[in-house]
Amino acid sequence: MTPPRNSSAARDIAHVLHPYTDHKVHQQAGPVVISRGKGIRVWDDQGKEYIEAVAGLWCAALGFDNERLVKAAEAQMRKLPFYHAFTAKSHEPMIDLAEMLIERAPVPMSKVFFGNSGSEANDSAIKMIWYYNNALGRPRKKKIISRLKAYHGITVASGSLTGLPANHKLFDLPLPGFLHVSTPHHYHGAQPGETEEQFATRLAEELDAVIQREGPETVAAFWAEPVMGAGGVIVPPATYFEKIQAVLRKHDVLLVADEVICGFGRTGSYWGCQTMGIEPDILTCAKALSASFLPISAVMINDKVFQGIAEGSHTIGTWGHGFTYSGHPVPAAVAVETLRIYDEIGLLDHVRRVGPYMQKALRARFADHPLVGEVRGVGLIAAIELVEDKAARRNFDPARKVGLRLAKLGEEHGVILRALINDTIAFSPPLIITEAEIDAMLDRTAAALEALAVQLR
Ligand code: PLP
Repeated sequence: MTPPRNSSAARDIAHVLHPYTDHKVHQQAGPVVISRGKGIRVWDDQGKEYIEAVAGLWCAALGFDNERLVKAAEAQMRKLPFYHAFTAKSHEPMIDLAEMLIERAPVPMSKVFFGNSGSEANDSAIKMIWYYNNALGRPRKKKIISRLKAYHGITVASGSLTGLPANHKLFDLPLPGFLHVSTPHHYHGAQPGETEEQFATRLAEELDAVIQREGPETVAAFWAEPVMGAGGVIVPPATYFEKIQAVLRKHDVLLVADEVICGFGRTGSYWGCQTMGIEPDILTCAKALSASFLPISAVMINDKVFQGIAEGSHTIGTWGHGFTYSGHPVPAAVAVETLRIYDEIGLLDHVRRVGPYMQKALRARFADHPLVGEVRGVGLIAAIELVEDKAARRNFDPARKVGLRLAKLGEEHGVILRALINDTIAFSPPLIITEAEIDAMLDRTAAALEALAVQLR
């Protein structure tokens, strides 16, 4: 249906180039224009209400309204609406936030650098590692290993870390020097009869073999989301990170934890690193750092990395890296208030209560469904994967776009779902969600799934 002339939808079609969109389809189908939000819900410009099952993009941890964050932004805008952090200029919101992050870090960390997005955080961390190894006189130690199906962003370098085909095809990525090892997904990756522990051992051996093949003197870092998000909500097999970290230590390879989704309670611990037993050298975070009310990201580095960077910067006379908006005072003030709110409302305890409820409810409702191959997740992040053949664990032909069809049907039933690779439907609701709201979210999802089953018959 063609939207009325001069409607928001028509003007969108005429002017906006959307991220992650088939532009030709969009010219016909048009956008869903979201015009307001409250709690875990948003409303479109036609007045239709939706439960946001993915908190936007795994991010609106406090939902879609919060008076304290509005006030924090307003107060900071009145006091100092902009200042930068170049050449040792500073301001209180940035200092407060850096201190709060260091206090909350899962392992001892030394310094915090700020960016505006998860991609910028990971991109900055890549540059820090290259700089660090050059400063240490190890110019060959530069290669970076991540995993197939990882998502670390879309800039030229962070997009090279990402291990998803859509982020590489036609973009001439990944860059040379970025390697990808296997996805730690037991459901698809394990051999018949292989336990989680055996699978984890095999993946650690694979990593070891790749590092040996490349030469440990050329491998700088390994990158990992504690729980992979955009790649399909993949919870690694038992003992995976323990075994991976032993390999990294053996070869003096840095470990970077990408906590852009997992950070700030999503997995039931403050950091995904704590849930998974990860001790990173560098940690990147964003999204829930400011409850996504304003863009801000952070890179925390340990003292070893800081000393290397400090050495290099002293030789050259400056560390030639930083964004105009690094540590921008308004998002920094909002992030400070966000972290205070998390503590004051006991958000972590809340997630520890409702997370297991959501996991159990998802399994009770969907695990036996003929279209659902696997239900997985931890805390308030989960997924159901749709399959054509449950016994053979075989996905549908991607051309049938079954996951996208379920997401579309979800919208008709009042729930915004996110379809990922392999027809996987993600759940990552605002962390404030209640048990009753989880029930409502899953009722709507179940209705959409039944509608899909009818379509597929
Ligand atoms: N890292 C992870 C784990 C993410 O999920 C994302 C975005 O979803 C990013 C990095 C990139 O963040 P941004 O989209 O803010 O650049």
